[in-house]
Amino acid sequence: MGLRLVYSLVRPANFARVWSTTNCQRIHAVWAKKDIDLEYRFSPVSLYSSDVPKKCWQCNFPFKSEVFCKKCETVLKPPEEFDYFEILGIERKFDLDMTDVRQKYKQLQNKLHPDKLLNKPEKEQQYLKDMSGLVSNAYYTLLNPLHRGIYLLELNNLSVPEETVSIEPEFIMEIMERNEAIDDAGTDKDKIIKIIKENREILATLTNQLSEAFKTNDIDKVRYFLVKMKYFTSIDDRLKEIKDNLGIVT
Ligand SMILES: [Zn+2]
Repeated sequence: MGLRLVYSLVRPANFARVWSTTNCQRIHAVWAKKDIDLEYRFSPVSLYSSDVPKKCWQCNFPFKSEVFCKKCETVLKPPEEFDYFEILGIERKFDLDMTDVRQKYKQLQNKLHPDKLLNKPEKEQQYLKDMSGLVSNAYYTLLNPLHRGIYLLELNNLSVPEETVSIEPEFIMEIMERNEAIDDAGTDKDKIIKIIKENREILATLTNQLSEAFKTNDIDKVRYFLVKMKYFTSIDDRLKEIKDNLGIVT
């Protein structure tokens, strides 16, 4: 089915219907000699999405990406290929309603709670544990805008090759200066709090810019903002450690 294709050298018959061409990012294919343009769109169906129904290990009822069987309600065997958005039952897109995501995660984890292991066959216990791990990974990946962005690219078989993303030298200078400011702040709690606040504001702005880039399917911009976010996220990680060491509660 053409829907599963992200890159295609031959325009799928249903291309226009499935993918709108407004603001489309055009990328010349490696095979440009053949005068074939490659149009890139974020696929509504990921490479990992399964349209071949699997069967419940208990009752054989088919399932796609549910955590529990719709018929017998047993926890399903975690699939080998999965999509975190599908696991949590949320729409695949960058802008998420995090309250909704958190709620879905909590509901699933309640149902996967270790209490439910009692008196269950060994196989089912294992599936419960595995599924619980999978649901956690899904949640924590999608919770963080940087990881969510990278994951969305991965689902579309794309990566963020830093060496090909050009970043202004001023930006690298800015990152160095911010790290120096943290060094200089030392154990001064007020200064650290101020830097944390500034850094979070920058990350929030970058998240908005990344969101816009996803909406317009501008892959170069998506990569550009993701690389920038990587730098600011590593500063944030560094600040979190300092914050914990200084006992700062924010
Ligand atoms: Zn079943």
